[in-house]
Amino acid sequence: MSDKIESKSGIVVSPKAKPIVGGTAIPADIMENFVERAQEFGVSVSEEQQELFSRFYGLIIVKNRMMNLTKITEPEEVAEKHFLDSIALAGVIDLSGRHSLLDMGTGAGFPGVPLKITFPKLKITLADSLHKRIIFLQETIAELGFSGVELVHGRAEDLARMDGYREKFDIVVSRAVASLPTLVELCMPFVKVHGKFIAYKGGDCDEEIDSAKNAIALLGGEIAEIRNFTLGEAGRTFVVVDKVKKTDAHYPRRAGLPGKRPL
Ligand code: SAM
Repeated sequence: MSDKIESKSGIVVSPKAKPIVGGTAIPADIMENFVERAQEFGVSVSEEQQELFSRFYGLIIVKNRMMNLTKITEPEEVAEKHFLDSIALAGVIDLSGRHSLLDMGTGAGFPGVPLKITFPKLKITLADSLHKRIIFLQETIAELGFSGVELVHGRAEDLARMDGYREKFDIVVSRAVASLPTLVELCMPFVKVHGKFIAYKGGDCDEEIDSAKNAIALLGGEIAEIRNFTLGEAGRTFVVVDKVKKTDAHYPRRAGLPGKRPL
């Protein structure tokens, strides 16, 4: 793994060096609103955690100038569509314990980083196939001073064949990575038997859920709950899948196939 990122402007950042400097904070009124709305999901965000959210926001904004992390950059939108959406998971599952949680296709760290900020006991693994995003997260983790966070670069299809990852996680989550039939094949192999896979989906995803039923059964799962909620104007859905038996060694199929030919 290379330890340097070279941007188009020629700036070289070493993740081992004191990383990303500067960045904007989240304005106080927006933070206040975020803290209030987080309570609707049973999450109380302490002052220390607010500071971490604000710093994370600053890091994203600075780094987003050099690489494509997110199209959502206004503080109000980031607070709602990235931070609040990520921690809404607390409304469907108790996250206060020392669970191991894998965020597959984490991108700029969603939902994994907000979950780690609000539930520091979680043992989080952030995985993504894009190396640059993992390097960004390496710098972010160092900057925010987290412990108990592992970063993994690779495709789900390949990582699932590795001993340290297959059927090792209490909870696997994923947001905006693939349609549900594909996502189930990418994520279920990582879940321990009796653990859970939870997909973050948009509203009105009944058809997508229906089309994933075959994949869920084949991968050893059972739908436990479908939780709809609204976030501002947007409909959102958590699809909660219980892992009831081991995933057959045949899955996931080789890289690319889960997307090209969903089960
Ligand atoms: N989860 C983040 C979010 O909600 O903002 C990022 C979503 S982004 C649209 C999708 C991410 O999934 C990208 O960072 C991409 O590199 C990653 N990804 C796509 N297919 C993957 C695979 N097969 N294995 C691992 N990561 C994958």
